[in-house]
Amino acid sequence: MREWLRCPLRESLLSEGWAAPPNWDHRPVLWIGNAVHAAMAAFLVGADPDVGHEVLTDSMGLQWRQPPVHTAWTLEGATRKARAAYEAILETKYGSIAVYDVVAVERRLKYGTPDLVYRVDDGTEPGPLRVVDWKVRKRAPREMRAWDHDWQLWHYVWEVTQEWVRPAAAEVCVVILEPRVQVVIHEVTVTAERLAAWEAQAAHWWSLREAMNGAPAANWAACSLPYYDCEFKAHCHESASLDAFYVKESDDAV
Ligand code: SF4
Repeated sequence: MREWLRCPLRESLLSEGWAAPPNWDHRPVLWIGNAVHAAMAAFLVGADPDVGHEVLTDSMGLQWRQPPVHTAWTLEGATRKARAAYEAILETKYGSIAVYDVVAVERRLKYGTPDLVYRVDDGTEPGPLRVVDWKVRKRAPREMRAWDHDWQLWHYVWEVTQEWVRPAAAEVCVVILEPRVQVVIHEVTVTAERLAAWEAQAAHWWSLREAMNGAPAANWAACSLPYYDCEFKAHCHESASLDAFYVKESDDAV
């Protein structure tokens, strides 16, 4: 939905699997992110750090089946970085969450799949919930506060309150890889009023999406965002054909 709000046409192209040719300096960062997600999921269900390490190593090896080209990354270097990222998360509060406080790990809800939902022990029963999103970035994000109104995050919180009928808030756990691995936990304050306001706006956008009925509109206002140009500009504005200038994710053997 976040991509649809930016541009329905872009969301449609992405969901069909279209992407710009791989940026091999960036692709290993995505693979590290996937490996860290998998390692944390494995750790959280049994609180065994070694299991997470095994899953992380396997994940990096599997993703490296198509080795990146023209890049300084090596499998060994990227795996070392992924391991350091995983260990840095374990040193935060997430490394000591009791198994019985883990409510859901990458569990598919009706629409979304939050990385982690856990119970906060604040002395009340059954206690409020926290939704956690892991983010792995090569460099520190320019603006942490942008997560405060991240659509996807609010959607997760809303779904969690529907599923468990308990108040929930959100945390973004950002792992920064360079120049050294560090973890920043950003808490997003969620009040009942703000969540109700989000739900009211969401209802409008959901009905508009349904009304489009499979004919996604292009939103030219979203083609050139600061720091984040849409990769389909050549297709939309210079007639570059998808087959010749883009790849389908399935061709990329990630
Ligand atoms: S280039 Fe612009 S119109 Fe085309 S998909 Fe991207 S955001 Fe949408």
